[in-house]
Amino acid sequence: MNQRALFWMPVLMRLGLVAVVMLAASFLWSGVIGLLFGFLLVLILALIQLNYLYRLSLWLENPEQVKLADGFGAWTDVFARLYRLRREDEKNRHELAEWLSRFRKAMSLLPDGVVIMDDVLFLEWCNPVAEQHLGLALERDKGMRVTNLIRSPDFIDYIILARYEQPLTLTLGERKLIVHLIPFENRRQILVTHDVTDAERLEQTRRDFIANASHELRTPLTVINGFLEIATGDDFIDPEVRRQHLQLMLEQGKRMQHLVEDMLSLTRLESIDYPVRAEAIDMHVMMEELKRDGDALSAGRHQIKLLVEDVELAGSNDELHSAFSNLVSNAVRYTPVDGKIDVIWRDSEAGPQFIVRDNGIGIRPEHIVRLTERFYRVDKGRSRASQGTGLGLAIVKHVLMRHNATLKIESEPGKGSAFIAQFPKVITLKA
Ligand code: ADP
Repeated sequence: MNQRALFWMPVLMRLGLVAVVMLAASFLWSGVIGLLFGFLLVLILALIQLNYLYRLSLWLENPEQVKLADGFGAWTDVFARLYRLRREDEKNRHELAEWLSRFRKAMSLLPDGVVIMDDVLFLEWCNPVAEQHLGLALERDKGMRVTNLIRSPDFIDYIILARYEQPLTLTLGERKLIVHLIPFENRRQILVTHDVTDAERLEQTRRDFIANASHELRTPLTVINGFLEIATGDDFIDPEVRRQHLQLMLEQGKRMQHLVEDMLSLTRLESIDYPVRAEAIDMHVMMEELKRDGDALSAGRHQIKLLVEDVELAGSNDELHSAFSNLVSNAVRYTPVDGKIDVIWRDSEAGPQFIVRDNGIGIRPEHIVRLTERFYRVDKGRSRASQGTGLGLAIVKHVLMRHNATLKIESEPGKGSAFIAQFPKVITLKA
């Protein structure tokens, strides 16, 4: 049976029954009584229908609170279907809400910012990363024009001219962003923002490093080339002068060698493919070696004293030796003759400490924060004159970082400096 027949059959049967009852009543009580009985019957039936209609309207107004009756006759079917539709609707809405919350969660996990705008650039939605990147607050700014919220002229041009084909590099305060506009659903636009501040900074550091390294290498190369030109020329050179030239060339060659070695060390230390090879370090042996090297460099011009406590250290012997010996060599190089240098290995509340303290030239506070930058020197001439490459403290910083340790510098100009490598109580090594 089709839908129509299913609905009309019981309705027609009931109407037929009413007609039969009315016919029987008019036979039994002819005249006015029969008519009244028929009228009463129709009225009762109409009232029943009206009651169901009333209940239906109540339910439609507040489907959450009001319960729909089981119904009678054709209403039974209508109510059952309405119930089913409502259940399906509820299920769909629930699924949609779940999907939306999953979508928002996924969007909030994206490393990039996403902004959805309508065709007239009103903000509809954005994820938390976009809030950070562009200084937006969804709750506050929803429904406002994006060009009124981000007032950079470059950004406004880009958005208004809708240059979909190419991204925009946008600087907002300290942040550098790549911004990309994507049309979507005809009437909407998506703005994707990608933070390149760190990448840009890294690129700048790399450029500076190459520029500095080239500059550092050029000076000794120029000196060597100059002497070589003289040596290969036709002029007679006094053997003593020639010996001096060779000596200077040797020094410049050594300087280049130091520089290249330090550059290679730094590159290796920065490489994640080069994990720390941890071993138990005999600090008594290490400290003796440091003193011996320091004394050799000082050539009796300084008094180097050791203080070694029985504190264990685990890490890379080679790396730590190179870091500690850089600190000792700096103390010798930046402390005038007859100066005093203490090299200390001891325990502290925060964990083991390696300290090199001198009473040398000291460092002004404004330089201290920059000392571990590559090629940063307070006095270039003095550093170069003492075979400095400007990379020593950068190496120290990296070695300590790989051992979860930190470098603290205390210094007073004219009075001296202390370089403190603070190790954690429990040393966990970085890969
Ligand atoms: P360099 O090869 O020039 O010594 P470093 O990275 O080891 O490079 O040190 C950076 C700068 O820090 C040095 O040029 C010097 O100006 C300063 N410095 C380092 N150690 C000391 C120290 N013990 N006393 C004074 N200045 C220091």
